[in-house]
Amino acid sequence: MPELPEVETIANGLHQRLRGDRIESVWVGRKPEPLKSPAAVIARTLEGARVERVRRVGKHIVFDLQGSELRGNGQSATGQWIVHLGMTGRMLVADPESEIPKHTHLVARLASGKELRFVDPRRFGRLEVRKGDFAGPGAEPLTISEEGFARLFHRRTAPIKALLLNQTLLHGVGNIYADESLFRAGVRPRRRANSLSRAELSALRKSLRHVLKEAIAAGGSSVSDYVDADGEEGFFQLQHRAYGREGEPCLVCKSKIKKIIVAGRGTHYCPKCQK
Ligand SMILES: [Zn+2]
Repeated sequence: MPELPEVETIANGLHQRLRGDRIESVWVGRKPEPLKSPAAVIARTLEGARVERVRRVGKHIVFDLQGSELRGNGQSATGQWIVHLGMTGRMLVADPESEIPKHTHLVARLASGKELRFVDPRRFGRLEVRKGDFAGPGAEPLTISEEGFARLFHRRTAPIKALLLNQTLLHGVGNIYADESLFRAGVRPRRRANSLSRAELSALRKSLRHVLKEAIAAGGSSVSDYVDADGEEGFFQLQHRAYGREGEPCLVCKSKIKKIIVAGRGTHYCPKCQK
């Protein structure tokens, strides 16, 4: 499943390729699962619209559109196309001559002559259109203030790891990034959130931003062509220090990395470095 850094990389790649392009026509498939908005509404919103900007909000890709018919009264309006990739969703910018992959659920033909295709074999991805400004649930981990970050956790008794994964608090933090940021902050995943000191919360916020930015930088440089490619290769270039290293020596103290389950997710930590 693509996590925040991957979605950011994909959104940036789409922005570079599609900004300013106009969607001339849209084909929507018959499978109902990917369509969070009705097919006709998606088509009406996208057709004729200009892509002003493509950006990441949480784990969503948001297309800011100008001049679509969303209001239905013939007036030019702004709208948003919101894409969640789910487990296996991909957005491909393709040559119209190239073969349409199996499991293609939407094809947008662009004024530039390219096609944008949404492909998703397992159909956990979602396509939606909106009028308003989509913000997603929860706070943005890359921009939240120290004060705001501390406020999210100070009265909560759940394990800190479970809360990091709670999308209504912070959006876009997945399992790998939660483990890596807790390791770097020296905080045990099972600690009750309200037991963390202000210094620990500050270290955690810093390490979370660091880990996400590092992964974005790695993703951005190694998979600049992702939207044209057909695999997830190149993602997760982040050097894992805890995640997936069960039984291996800690890179700091050589203790064996432990694996436990927190909030139903495999969780990795160093019993010596993390308090
Ligand atoms: Zn250690």
